[in-house]
Amino acid sequence: RDAVPLARLQGIRKRYGAITALDGLDLTLHTGQVTALLGANGAGKTTAVGLLLGLLSADAGTVEVFGQSPSRLHVRQRVGTMLQSANIPERLQVGELLALVRSYYPRPRSVDECIAMAGLQGLLGRRYGKLSGGQQRRVQFALAICGRPALLFLDEPTTGLDIEARQALWQAIRGLVAEGAAVLLTTHYLEEAEALSDRVAVIDQGRRVAEGTVHEIRAHVSLRRIRCITT
Ligand code: ATP
Repeated sequence: RDAVPLARLQGIRKRYGAITALDGLDLTLHTGQVTALLGANGAGKTTAVGLLLGLLSADAGTVEVFGQSPSRLHVRQRVGTMLQSANIPERLQVGELLALVRSYYPRPRSVDECIAMAGLQGLLGRRYGKLSGGQQRRVQFALAICGRPALLFLDEPTTGLDIEARQALWQAIRGLVAEGAAVLLTTHYLEEAEALSDRVAVIDQGRRVAEGTVHEIRAHVSLRRIRCITT
C-alpha cells in the first residue's frame, strides 16, 4: 500500500436540503486497487463519487484526489468516469463521441484500442441513441477509459445488464486494472464486488458500516446484513 493514498474522503457530510446523504463518510482509494462501494438505493454512493469528481461540494470534511482538489484540470485529466447520469448526446455516432472525449485528454488511447477494450467492433458509425442498453454501456466504458485514466469511477456499471454482458464488462475492467489503474466501483451486487475488488466499503445511510477485503467483510459482517443493506 502506498503511504499517500490516491484519493480520500475524510469526515464528509453532505446534505441536500433536509436530506443528509453522507454523514461523516471516510473512504480511501489506493494505487492499483479496485475498491467497491457497496450499498442500497439512497445509501450515498453516487454522492460520494460526485464529491470525488468535484461535481458536488461537501458541507464538511475534505476531498483529495492525487493529493489535490478534484476540480483541478490536471486531476480531471487523469480521471475517467462512467456515471449513471451520463447525458450522452443520442444523435452522435460512437466514433464522434470517442473523438470528442479523447480530445479532452493529453495522452489518449487510439480509437482502435478503445474499440478493442470495450468490444465495440462494428459500432463506430452507429448513433448512440440507436444502440441497445448493453451496447450503450460499452460505449460509456470506452469513453471512461479513452483518456488512459490513472483512476476510474464506475457508478453501477452493470446494473440492468444480463449476466453475459456483465461478465464481459468485468473482463474489460480487469484488463484495465492489469495496466495499473485504480478503480472505485459502486454496486448493489455483492457478487460484483467479489468478482472485481481488492477492498470493499459498505455504506448505509451515508456512513461506512464495514470496510476491508472481500474476505474480511464476509468474515466479519453477516451476509444477511450485507444482503439486507444492498438489496
Ligand atoms: P442509488 O443506488 O439509488 O444510486 P446511492 O447510494 O447512489 O443510491 P445517492 O444517489 O448518493 O445514493 O443518494 C443519497 C441520498 O441523497 C438519497 O436519500 C437521495 O434521495 C438523496 N439525493 C441524492 N441527490 C439528491 C438531490 N440532487 N437532491 C435531493 N436529494 C438527493
